[in-house]
Amino acid sequence: MNRPALARIDLDALCHNYLAARRLHGGRALAVLKANAYGHGAVACARALEPVADALAVAFVAEAEELRAAGVRAPILVLEGVFSGGELERAAQLGLWLVVHHDEQVRLIERAPIACARLHVWLKIDSGMHRVGVAAGDAARVHARLLASGRIASITLMSHFARADDVTDASARDATEAQLAVFDAATIDLPGPRSLANSAGLLAWPAARRDWARPGIMLYGVDPTGTSRLDLRPVMTLTSAVFAERVLAPGEAMGYGGNFVAERALRVGLVAIGYGDGYPARAGTGTPVAVDGRPTRVLGRVSMDMLAIDLSELPAAGIGSRVELWGPAVAVAEVAQRAGMLSYELLCNVKRVPLEYVATTAALVDTGT
Ligand SMILES: *Cc1c(COP(=O)(O)O)cnc(C)c1O
Repeated sequence: MNRPALARIDLDALCHNYLAARRLHGGRALAVLKANAYGHGAVACARALEPVADALAVAFVAEAEELRAAGVRAPILVLEGVFSGGELERAAQLGLWLVVHHDEQVRLIERAPIACARLHVWLKIDSGMHRVGVAAGDAARVHARLLASGRIASITLMSHFARADDVTDASARDATEAQLAVFDAATIDLPGPRSLANSAGLLAWPAARRDWARPGIMLYGVDPTGTSRLDLRPVMTLTSAVFAERVLAPGEAMGYGGNFVAERALRVGLVAIGYGDGYPARAGTGTPVAVDGRPTRVLGRVSMDMLAIDLSELPAAGIGSRVELWGPAVAVAEVAQRAGMLSYELLCNVKRVPLEYVATTAALVDTGT
């Protein structure tokens, strides 16, 4: 038997979440598949979404090239835009849509070869996140410059929220409202479709709904606001199995550092998964797991290849029992919170375990390249 660690990817849930996101937002929606689809496998996710999605998005050109090489033909927006003239030409050949968020990218477009196909550009305006994006006061000038380059097929106006996920903090709400106002003022005289909402904006900010939504994390079943009632389904179920068990006597220490000490007699199961697979090393004692569907907890420090769980209250569980690290029974957001990390990080970090795709439509489970 192979090592039992496995990430099962439910492509029906992915398509369900995409359609739920788009229905709530209205208009069109980009499916954000950057960072290998947040750890879920970009090619398989793109193939599953292509029949239903208006367009896809990745962070950089090489990520889009991987999808094109796998036969994905849907429009793909490159969220970081290009880094060089060479990349611009490749992007144009592949028919990619490009974010433009600083002057150097405008210069690259102005200098593009005449033969370069006309570009669909998304002009990213800094409405207050203060990371990337052209200053709100420069938006009209950059827009005019792009049009004057003669290399442009269309311009979509976009911005990105810094704090839309924080729906309880008053200053965060003020910041998002200010971003909306800055964006609207900067673009009031400019034509073209608009796009503001990431997952949090889409879920928590009806005022941010424009022509295009850009859902990412919610496609994978995570609500970054923690408050929405939308029926989002977890896409990844990370599982492994108990491969050994032992009993700890009261006072015995277990694992690296010896800093977990049994407070009473404990029956412990060793599970074949660890931080080498992307399970967070900082998710220590008390982090929830489910054994054959029943809740229990991690004990002690997570190792590279294994971790320990408490089987004391689960007499039927033992060697071979299936352990869910996250999925329908254990919310990845709860594990993330325990580890002091983001759900985004946990999903992106998954590695070394095989990804197994499931879908009711067999045609969706098409992972060959
Ligand atoms: C990553 C990204 C998104 C998706 O964000 P989520 O929080 O995962 O929904 C949307 N827009 C831009 C510009 C991004 O970089």
